[in-house]
Amino acid sequence: MKSPFHVMLIPTLGCPGNCAYCWSSEEDSPVMSMEIIKEVAAWIRDFDDRQVTVTFHGGEPLLAGAEFYREAFPLLSEELAHLKPAFAIQTNLWRMTPEIAQIFAEYQVPIGSSIDGPKEINDVQRGDGYFDKTMHGYQIARENGLNVRFICTFTSYSVEFREEIFNYFMQNGLTLKLHPALPSLRGDDPEKWALAPEKYGDLLIYLLDKYLENLNTAEIMNINDLFKSVFTRTGTVCTFNDCMGNTFAVGPDGSIYPCYRFVGMPEWVMGNVRDHPTKADLAESRAWKLMHAFKDFVDENCKDCKHIHYCRGGCPYNAITPTGGEVKAVDPHCPAYNQIFDELNDRLNKELFGTDAMAMGMGGSRRRQRNRKAGIMDLMQKIVSE
Ligand code: SF4
Ligand code: SF4
Repeated sequence: MKSPFHVMLIPTLGCPGNCAYCWSSEEDSPVMSMEIIKEVAAWIRDFDDRQVTVTFHGGEPLLAGAEFYREAFPLLSEELAHLKPAFAIQTNLWRMTPEIAQIFAEYQVPIGSSIDGPKEINDVQRGDGYFDKTMHGYQIARENGLNVRFICTFTSYSVEFREEIFNYFMQNGLTLKLHPALPSLRGDDPEKWALAPEKYGDLLIYLLDKYLENLNTAEIMNINDLFKSVFTRTGTVCTFNDCMGNTFAVGPDGSIYPCYRFVGMPEWVMGNVRDHPTKADLAESRAWKLMHAFKDFVDENCKDCKHIHYCRGGCPYNAITPTGGEVKAVDPHCPAYNQIFDELNDRLNKELFGTDAMAMGMGGSRRRQRNRKAGIMDLMQKIVSE
């Protein structure tokens, strides 16, 4: 199976928000020009022959304004028609307007946004007023038929409210995608909000159980992705699937980076779209070499781990953050990944080959089948039928 090809465009590093744990806002950041968008199209056109997903990320990408998207979508769609581009955006929705929403609807752009739970929990982490502004934008997006999914960042603070947060998403019919707060290469106090790996592992198991209890009504994207990875023995999201060479990010000035998380850090620039670099050109950069050094490190370090094929050492950015940019370890969430992968494998095997299989198969009465709790195979059916 070919890995997906993904280009993240960062129209600006500016953001009107002030989330306590965020590392990416930079006030007064310039906005990407249409000339750079044209160069992006010219660069990607012959760079790779896979279908491409173009995600607008930030900073806050809606700061670029309606005119930017009114020009960028048709330009990229036409220039990259042979690559069947799919678009997406990650935004806090504060600057959503009916005008922008209509442009996004025309190009069927799915929206990823961020809410950390009910207002009183969210605004502690993301700042006073965040919740109301995001919900206002969400309303406009919904009125224009846009599909919005929320990422919920769990921090060392909010993990203590996991039940309230899960219930909030359930009661409001929102899809949950969780994100553990991470230390950053650039924060002043990088560890303050970070979610410890063991807490993250426990959280994943807790959410797996809650998901199975509420399988008809809940939607937890990470659990779906983790299960798909275990079942297919291949990582289905970038964290678990050697992102190097498959994902790139372009900053406002056209600089190319390995991922949006490196944008704005000069030492991670691989090239510039204006030069239309090939993969061989980018491979000369220090950033490319470091990303591939991580891949080699995982091949050696994780070679005895039974999850290596669908974990791949986790996210390289997470891995190099604690060492100031050097490749010396895997993703610090390794214990959490191990825990949830073990759990999913155990439950899968038990249901396929253990006593549960008997109960579900010929040995189980209809009544017993009706009364049993949902399990991993039910989750698989749900994923397959979507
Ligand atoms: S560095 Fe991490 S977040 Fe970025 S593409 Fe790679 S795995 Fe994904
Ligand atoms: S779970 Fe840990 S040891 Fe296993 S592949 Fe992932 S990072 Fe490596």
